[in-house]
Formats: sequence, C-alpha cells, structure tokens
Amino acid sequence: MIIDCHGHYTTAPRELELFRDRQLAGLADASRRPTSTDLGISDDQIRESLEKAQLKFQRERGTDVTIFSPRAAGMAHHVGTADTSRVWSRICNDLIHRVCTLYPENFVGVCQLPQSPGVPPANCIDELTRCVNELGFIGCNLNPDPSGGYWKDPPLTDRYWYPLYEKMVELDVPAMVHVSSSCNPCFHATGAHYINGDTTAFMQFITADLFRDFPTLKFIIPHGGGAVPYHWGRYRGLAQDMKRPPLKDHLLKNVFFDTCVYHLPGIELLTRVIPVENILFASEMVGAVKGIDPETGQHYDDTKRYIDQIQMSAADKTKIYEGNALKVYGRLKTALKQRKAA
Ligand SMILES: [Zn+2]
Repeated sequence: MIIDCHGHYTTAPRELELFRDRQLAGLADASRRPTSTDLGISDDQIRESLEKAQLKFQRERGTDVTIFSPRAAGMAHHVGTADTSRVWSRICNDLIHRVCTLYPENFVGVCQLPQSPGVPPANCIDELTRCVNELGFIGCNLNPDPSGGYWKDPPLTDRYWYPLYEKMVELDVPAMVHVSSSCNPCFHATGAHYINGDTTAFMQFITADLFRDFPTLKFIIPHGGGAVPYHWGRYRGLAQDMKRPPLKDHLLKNVFFDTCVYHLPGIELLTRVIPVENILFASEMVGAVKGIDPETGQHYDDTKRYIDQIQMSAADKTKIYEGNALKVYGRLKTALKQRKAA
C-alpha cells in the first residue's frame, strides 16, 4: 500500500471561500457576517472537485490513500480572533470529514487547529478531540507561527504548548508542523515561509528537552524537512556544540520528514542523510507546485517517481511508502481497517 501522508483539500468548492469572505467581512461589519454555517455544498460538488484532481492523480500515479487536511494556506490563523479560527476550523474539518466519508478508500482525515496568535494552544484541545473521537481523524496540522510570518508566539518547545501535547499523546495522534499563509511580504508563502517554518521547528527541537517530557509525542516536518537534511552536518555540529545528545538519540524517535521534495537529487540526498525509518512518503498534491518539470516531462509533485528511481531495497521502500506512516500515525491502522469494512 502506498500512503501519501500530506495532501490538502486545495480544490474545495468555491462556496467554502465565499463563507470565509463573509466571515472576514463580518469582522469589520457585523451585518455582513454569514448567517449560517451550512456551506450549501452538495456531495456531487465534492465528488467533482476531487475527481478532476486528487483522485485522478492518485489513480495515475498509483498511490492508494492520502492523509488529507484542509488547505494549509487557508488556515490563516493570523486573521480575526480565536473565535474566528474556531468557527473556520470546524467548518474546514467538517468538509474533510465529508470527503473521507464519501471516499473512505482514498482519504483519511487530519485536522486544522483553531490557533490564534497570542492565544495559548490549549484552546485547540476541544476541536482536536472532536475531530479524533467524533470524525475519526488521525492527526493534526500544527502551525508553529500563527502570526503568519512574524513569529510572535513562543517556540514549540515552550510549556505554552504543553497542554495540547498532553492531549495529542493521550489521543495518540501526531502533528505535522505546518505554517499557513505569510502576511510578511519578505516571505513568499510556499517558497520561503513554509521552508522557514520546517527548518525553524527542527532547530527549536534541538535546543530543548521536549521529548524527555513527551517520549511518545511525534511530529512530521514536511517539505522534506525544510533545509535540515541538506544541512545535516550543521545541525549535528550545532547540537554537539550545545552539549545536546546526538540527533539520532535526541530527536529521531519523535521527528519525521516527508518526501515533498520536487526533484530526484533532493530525494537522493534526503534518503542518504536521514535514516529510512524517519521518512514518510508524501506529495502535497494538489497545489504547492502545480507545474510540469520540462527536464523530466512529469509533474514536480509526482514524488513517487523519485522514490521509485532511487537505489534502495524493496523493504526500505515499503517503510517509506507504508510502514513508517503506520508507526507515526497510531490510529492509521484502525482507520484503514474501518475503511475496508465501510
Ligand atoms: Zn502542506
């Protein structure tokens, strides 16, 4: 089985954005607030939105199931208040649940959290619990910078985040560290802000003893781990200078990287530097990089082609495609069994 651990609903029907527009307009003028949280999206619209994109690519590329979450840039935690985020997250997560219910063979849900800058992440516990216990989701996306490029909240290793981590451990769900849109013009969202977020989170983990406090807490750092694998010697050296344990002992029981690196040499480096047990297959399709690489004639985000090309034993490739995801997402096995029964 080939499990893609990183997909977003980037092709949701436009009624979702229309709701968001009204919600944001309502922040300035209460009379423009949406009067209902019913988006008015039919099942057929959802089917159509997926058939032309995510499902088509799953079939063409030969992947089986996508761990699916709301559009990352759309989370926009910096907008409005904690209540704005609460309502918006619930709506986005409910839509993912509808996708997973319509296509139980193809999608398993991961939730957006109702984060808000300066608001302790304990406020996300209710929505996380609802998504896991009521909607059958198996993880969450955690934004290390809800301010959208200004980094105003404490680092991920601060006790500020601990109540949410306690709940993640209790529910046995990992988080993908995932920033949202950038409202800082210095940082292009997917080209700079995303990669900064990934790299920054890893460096934060090096400096502290978070995983001594939470030995079973798990994070996936997407986009191939940002700059981390390329600079692995730097991070090992920094850890050594800081009298931290070797990274393998310090972080690699808890921190994993995905394969959203959009060229073969990048995947070759990732798989050479990072232990195979710490790499999860992912593509982040559809939308982060949409085009076709003129050098290969294939979509940049068709990451399975790169894994298929690398020199590696079949057993190790199975770990990347399936085994590691089953270890990191403690609830995935049950979710997959339920989809067979459905
Ligand atoms: Zn993503």
